[in-house]
This record gives sequence, structure tokens and C-alpha cells, in this order.
Amino acid sequence: MNTQSSIAIVGAGLFGRLLAWRLARLNHRVTLFERGTPELPNSPAYIAAGMVAPWCESIEATTEVIRLGHISLNLWPKWLDELARDSGEPRVHTTQGTYVVAHPLDLADWQHFVNQVQSHHFLQHAQVGGILNTETLTQDAPELAHFNQALYLPDEIAIDNRSLLHSLMRALQRMQVIWHSDTLLTITEVLNLSTRFDHVFDCRGLGAKDALPTLRGVRGEVLRIHCPQVQLTRVVRLIHPRYQLYIAPRANHEFVIGATSIESESMNGISVRSSMELMSALVTVSPHFFEATVLEAKSHCRPALPDHNPLCEQNIKHPKLWHINGLYRHGFMLSPAWIAHVLTHFFLRKSYEIID
Ligand SMILES: Cc1cc2nc3c(=O)[nH]c(=O)nc-3n(C[C@H](O)[C@H](O)[C@H](O)COP(=O)(O)OP(=O)(O)OC[C@H]3O[C@@H](n4cnc5c(N)ncnc54)[C@H](O)[C@@H]3O)c2cc1C
Repeated sequence: MNTQSSIAIVGAGLFGRLLAWRLARLNHRVTLFERGTPELPNSPAYIAAGMVAPWCESIEATTEVIRLGHISLNLWPKWLDELARDSGEPRVHTTQGTYVVAHPLDLADWQHFVNQVQSHHFLQHAQVGGILNTETLTQDAPELAHFNQALYLPDEIAIDNRSLLHSLMRALQRMQVIWHSDTLLTITEVLNLSTRFDHVFDCRGLGAKDALPTLRGVRGEVLRIHCPQVQLTRVVRLIHPRYQLYIAPRANHEFVIGATSIESESMNGISVRSSMELMSALVTVSPHFFEATVLEAKSHCRPALPDHNPLCEQNIKHPKLWHINGLYRHGFMLSPAWIAHVLTHFFLRKSYEIID
């Protein structure tokens, strides 16, 4: 294997910067091109909840996505240890475990959800903590005791998305990855990079529509709140007939509250309707949330392909170019497993080229 390839990655969002880091660890010379600033305040990854929740997502996700999510769950702890060493930053904070709850009128939907999750063939008994009753909830999460029961999924995690993006940026700086920010590239310009680099990865998310015409954006809106009155330290999912609410805790009593899922590519700010729906559902989980301060209300679009599976495709006409996309609502859940998949393909194809 040639360990000194020069590699261009276009798009330093979640996937692009994770891939750059893993390739730099393999001693490749990596250059990143990103239309935004390194902190990326206007990106889906910056506003995301960072949940790695294959069991909860198994209700709607494809089998392939659940399988990859399971692999990622096992890879993330090791990757976060390595990232702390490479970046010199504290280990990125994660929360452990998910509670799935519902109000009494929605218990049939909750039971259906529980049955679906428990019937999934990837799920081992050890990964379902089981159904918690009022007594256990009173000890573990007093705010949720009034629900009387919750499904507990102990191995799902939520990653502090902003610390992750920041630590990756620091690691890449320390590993001498060249970073061109404020640099927007069209597909023609991406293709031109193949005259200067051995390999080019197009990781522009929704910005890659000029290369992938079936790519679409699915709008998501979230709130970020501060609520010292609430002590929750694990993700909570509320099963609801109209919208599914999640509460993802961050450090210092901050919470990411989400998220809508709307077939629209509008990048407008959050709508009044969505804010009201999210907030109304939120205060039914705990009335303490009435006292919360709203820190942010943001929206962005998730990059989705028609089959809702991720894509890793070598360009037929330009074999130096790889298109990676379609992470949809699962960028954090899929990325480690998908990078492992991409690198396996990449190195296999490279050895075929050498054999040819
Ligand atoms: C509200 C919300 C909540 C979410 N919650 C979760 C969650 O809990 N768990 C989970 O797994 N996933 C979640 N996601 C999904 C996750 O954020 C995405 O799957 C992920 O960000 C996609 O990663 P990406 O790198 O492919 O694309 P992006 O993160 O969009 O990165 C693409 C990058 O390319 C850059 N770019 C675009 N066009 C160009 C161009 N022409 N030239 C140069 N640069 C360009 C962009 O600026 C961007 O930095 C959520 C998304 C949203 C919107």
C-alpha cells in the first residue's frame, strides 16, 4: 500500500473532516477544501443532536443503516480516545443510554415501538436494559417518574457534536492537514483537483447536487436550551402521534431539543409552528422546562438519497474521484462504520489498479 498518496477532500463537514483525520493517521498527505469557516456554525453537523441511536432509529431506518450504526457504536469509544490524543483536547463528552417514554394516551404507539425495537435481529438482550417502572425511574431519572414506564436502551450514545467538530479541527491542524476555508468548489473544480492530487473525495453533503442530481435536503429544526432545574443525563425520546421529540443533554444543563423532519430544502430560520410544537411537547416531559432559557433555534437540511442509504461511489469516467454522500439523518451514527467501508473499498480498488 502506498502510504504517501496526496488526497483532496472537498467539504470539511462531519464526514469530510473525520475522513481527513483517519487518512492523516494513515500518513496520507491530506488537503481540505471547505466553503465555510472551520467552526462551521451553519452546517447540519453543528446543530445536530449527535445521537448514535441505531435501536431507536431502527423503526424507520434501512437494515443497512442499522447494521452500520451498530458497528459505529462499537468504534466511537476507541475513536474518541484516539481523537483526544491527536487533538490535545479533552475527550469529547458523550452521554450514555436512551429512555423511550410516552404519555398514557399514546401507550399503544409506545408498545408498538418497544415491540419493533425488541424484535430487531441485531439487538441482543444485553443491549436492551428492559422496561423501567416508576420505582426505577424515580431513582434513575426523577423527572420521568410520572411516565410510569420507559424503555431503556443502555448502549446508545449522544456525542457532543460541537466539541467533536472542534477537536477534529485541532487534530487536523496538529497533523499538518492543509485547510482551505471559504473555498466553494463546483463539480468542475472538484474534477480539476484530480490533476493535482492522487485521489479526490467529494464530501460536500447537500452541496454536491451538481454531481448527484437525486440528492435532496430534508429540513430539520432544533432548539438549544439551558435548564438548570432539569438533571437528565441521558437522551429521552418521547413517542407522540404527530411528532417525535428527543432531548439530548449536553454539559452545564444545556439540552438539544429536536427535531422536525420536513420534505423541504428551505434554509429559513425555524418556523413558529415548529417552535411551538417542540416546546409544547418538551414541557409535557417535565414542567421544569417552562423555566428554560432558549439559547438557539436553528434549522438545516440533511443530505438524503432516494434509498436513504449512504453512498460511496467511484466516478466511472474519473476514477480518481470518489463521491461520499447520503448520510441523511445519521451522519454521527454512520460515519465511523462508513469510513471503514470507504477505506476498504478505496484500498482494494487501489490494489486492483496496481495489479492492472
Ligand atoms: C437538526 C438535525 C439534527 C441531526 N441530528 C443527528 C443525530 O442526532 N445523529 C446523527 O447521526 N445525525 C444527525 N443529523 C444528521 C447529520 O448532521 C448529517 O448526516 C451530517 O452532518 C452529514 O454529514 P456530511 O459531512 O455528509 O455533510 P455536511 O455535514 O453537510 O458537510 C458538508 C460540508 O461540505 C461543505 N460544502 C458544501 N458545498 C460545498 C462546496 N461547493 N465547496 C466546498 N465545500 C462545500 C459544507 O459547508 C459542509 O461543511 C442531524 C441533522 C440535522 C439537520
